[in-house]
Amino acid sequence: MRNLLKVNRKTIRAWGISFGVLLLAVTGLWLVLVYFEGEEPILQLSLTSPYIGSSRAISLHVSDQKSGIRSVWVALTKDGKEFVVLDRRFERTSGIRAHDASLDIRIDPVKLGVSDGPALLRMVARDYSGRRWWHGNITYLEKEVFIDTRPPGISVLSRPHYVNQGGAGLVIYRLTEKCPQSGVKVGDRFFPGHNGYFDDHKIFMSFFALGVDQGPGTRMVLSATDPADNLSETDFHYSIRRKTFKKDVINITDGFLQRKVPEISTGSITLPGASILDQFVWANRNLRREDYRKVTEIAGRSKAVMHWKGAFLRLPKSARKAGFGESRQYRYKGRVVDRQIHRGIDLASVPRSQVPAANYGQVVYAGLLGIYGKTVVIDHGFGLLSTYSHLSRIDVKVNQMVSKGDIIGRTGSTGLAGGDHLHFGVFVHSTFVNPLEWWDAAWLKNNIMAKIEAVQARWH
Ligand SMILES: [Zn+2]
Repeated sequence: MRNLLKVNRKTIRAWGISFGVLLLAVTGLWLVLVYFEGEEPILQLSLTSPYIGSSRAISLHVSDQKSGIRSVWVALTKDGKEFVVLDRRFERTSGIRAHDASLDIRIDPVKLGVSDGPALLRMVARDYSGRRWWHGNITYLEKEVFIDTRPPGISVLSRPHYVNQGGAGLVIYRLTEKCPQSGVKVGDRFFPGHNGYFDDHKIFMSFFALGVDQGPGTRMVLSATDPADNLSETDFHYSIRRKTFKKDVINITDGFLQRKVPEISTGSITLPGASILDQFVWANRNLRREDYRKVTEIAGRSKAVMHWKGAFLRLPKSARKAGFGESRQYRYKGRVVDRQIHRGIDLASVPRSQVPAANYGQVVYAGLLGIYGKTVVIDHGFGLLSTYSHLSRIDVKVNQMVSKGDIIGRTGSTGLAGGDHLHFGVFVHSTFVNPLEWWDAAWLKNNIMAKIEAVQARWH
C-alpha cells in the first residue's frame, strides 16, 4: 500500500511537471504565434489614375487575418506639409476583431487647403499584435499623386459656325492641358475632337453634326475633361439654319416582300411564325437600328488623319431618286405599316454602274450590312465616313487605301432596294449628314477649309 502511494505521488509529481511544461510551451507558442504574431496588415489602394481633382474618391482595402486591424491613417503630403484625410481606429468590441475593411475616402484638396501640383499619398495600417511594444505590426504604403483642381481652359479658334439641320460643322479649339476627352456636345450627342492635324498638339478639330431630328433650338457647347475629371464647358458662336425635308410614300407590294424578306433575313431575322409583312417591318426598324449601331462603332475607330481633299464625288451621270432627310411612310395595301427617315441620297444610273470612291480614304467595311445589302464604308479621317449601299459587286477589301474616283464596286439592288441604285451616305462620328454639303465645293471651302487655313495662318 505504502509503496503504491509512493509510486502514485511520484507519478502525480511527474504529471504535474509535465503539465506545467506543457502549459508553458502552449503559452509560449500562443505568445509567439498569436499574441506577438508578426504578420503585417495588407493595404490595397485602388487608384485608376494618379490625378486628384476637386473631389476624388479613393478606396482602400485593409486586411489582417491574425490579430486584426487596429488603425488606418491616410494623409496627403505636399511641400513638406501633412494633411490628414483619414484617422480611423478599429475597436475590439467583445472580442470581435476587424479582419477586413473597405474604406471609401473622399479627398477634396480645396477644402483641405492643398495647392495644385505633385503630392504624396501616405497610408499606414497597424494591427493588434503585441509586437513593437504593443504598437502592432505596421504596413506603410506611399503613392505619388498629382493634384489638379483647375478645369482645363478651352479657346475656340474657328468661327463662324453656320449649321444646317441635318448638316455638319467643324470647330477648331485649343486646350490648355492634355485632356483624355474633349469635343462638341450637340443636344445629347457628343462629337469627339482629335489633335494631330496641326503641329501644336494642343489644337483639336471636332467634326460635328446636327441630326435631321434635332431642331433649331438644339444647344451646342464645347466640352473638355482633364485627367483629374475636371470638366470645362465653353459656348461657341453658332447659328442653326432650319431645313424642311420632303415626305415620301413607299408602297410595299407582295412581290417586293417575297423577293426581299428572304434575302435580308439570312441569319438575322428570327421571328418564327410571323407574316412576311411583320418580318419586313421588324427588319426595317430593328435591322436598320443595328446597321446604324455598326456604322457608329466603325466610326469610333476612325483615324485622326485627314485623308480627303476637295469636294466629294457624286455617282456620275446619275439622277437623284430620293433625298436626304425625307420622312418615309411605308404603306401596304393602303395601310401605313412603318415610318422611317431616309438618311442618305439615292442615285440611279444605268444598272450595274461603276461606283467611284467619293474621296481619298481607307476602306473600313466591305460586305453585307443588313437592310443596306452589299455595302462599302470608307474612312476619310477625324470621324468622317462615306457609305455606298445596295451594291451588286464589291471590288475593294477592308484596310485598302483608295483615291478619289477609284472604282469600289457596282450599283445594284441588294438589301431593301426596289431597283438598281446607289444609296450614298455621309456619316460624322454617330450621325448621318446631308451628302449635298460634301459635294458642294463652296460649302466645303466656307465651312471647313477656310477654318483650317485661318488657324494654320495664325498658329505658324
Ligand atoms: Zn436610300
